[in-house]
Amino acid sequence: MSAGLLFAPYAPLTLVPKRSIGARWLKLLDALDLPSTVSGRRVAIKMHLGGNTGFTTIHPFLIRKLVEKVKAAGAKSVFVTDSAGAVATAVDRGYTTETLGCPLIPVDGASERYYVTRQIDPPFRTLTEIQLAGEILHAEALIDLAHVKGHGDCGFGGASKNLSMGCVTQATRRALHALEGGLKWNAEDCTRCRICMENCPNNAIRFNEKDELSVFYHHCKFCQHCVLICPQKALTMEGGRYKDFQRGMALTTSQILRNFEPGRVLFINVLTNITIFCDCWGMTTPSLVPDIGILAGRDIVAIEQATLDLIRVEDLIPGSLPPNWELGPTGHLFERIHRKDPYVVVEYLRELGHGIRAYTLQRIS
Ligand code: SF4
Ligand code: SF4
Repeated sequence: MSAGLLFAPYAPLTLVPKRSIGARWLKLLDALDLPSTVSGRRVAIKMHLGGNTGFTTIHPFLIRKLVEKVKAAGAKSVFVTDSAGAVATAVDRGYTTETLGCPLIPVDGASERYYVTRQIDPPFRTLTEIQLAGEILHAEALIDLAHVKGHGDCGFGGASKNLSMGCVTQATRRALHALEGGLKWNAEDCTRCRICMENCPNNAIRFNEKDELSVFYHHCKFCQHCVLICPQKALTMEGGRYKDFQRGMALTTSQILRNFEPGRVLFINVLTNITIFCDCWGMTTPSLVPDIGILAGRDIVAIEQATLDLIRVEDLIPGSLPPNWELGPTGHLFERIHRKDPYVVVEYLRELGHGIRAYTLQRIS
């Protein structure tokens, strides 16, 4: 058994507008059967609107055409949503009510206090509940429109990251990041010599004003250099804890998806401008690989799997990594860059019953 996905490749077959990615986008949307999902419904389009000086988020043309098709499919209403901060600066990337054809609404309200609490049952370590954003709670259909890119905490950002970190409050984002780990620090044995901090090749170790050590796991590549160099043996590697963040992402995504009736969620992953870091870093960097295209479907597991499978190590563009960035020896391109296996969250979502990893691609040409 496999899940069917639509795939509009970026590369033109012939140099005519009707075969270009823009035209394929329209054909893909027609093939998606939007009316069965959105007709008569209040539709939320969740995307990452970016920030600061970054501009390699999803192009307004694609969103505008999606909004037009959603309206034509009989939606009661449609809006684009993201965090209040991202909505406030969305105009910098060309996202306005005029350009997109629908309102842009903060996902948890302008006050960032519009949410409902959902229990994680059973709790996962310190993650006992999530604060689900109100605009998602009260939407009747959801289009998860994700820009695909690398991510220092979990390897990559796609459909699951767009929901789990983008449809909750800041407090829940903090709770998810609190699941990260891997290095254990023994404060009593530590002399605060800072040798570890000065020698971490990835600038991942910090000391706060109370002289307490913390690790910024987004940057940490689990190289163990700090463990080996510490003269007091005050650091030890617990191993594999980055997966707990992915587990938290999957559990949060699961809660969000359960908010919707069956058949009321569509997933669209845009594989263009695939950069090393998430759009929340607020900066644009070179594309790691050539633009690939757009995937769409109704199975979040399958679309995340296909997304990762389409991004190949062999396609890494020379000069696209920061200076002196060393690739790890094995695994997916994102694992070799960030040292975190990006497929882990895909498997967690499968275990939670949100789809299957086998897929077939229907090419839109
Ligand atoms: S190298 Fe070891 S003793 Fe020195 S600050 Fe780091 S953890 Fe503490
Ligand atoms: S394991 Fe490596 S990257 Fe992580 S904090 Fe230690 S030295 Fe830095």
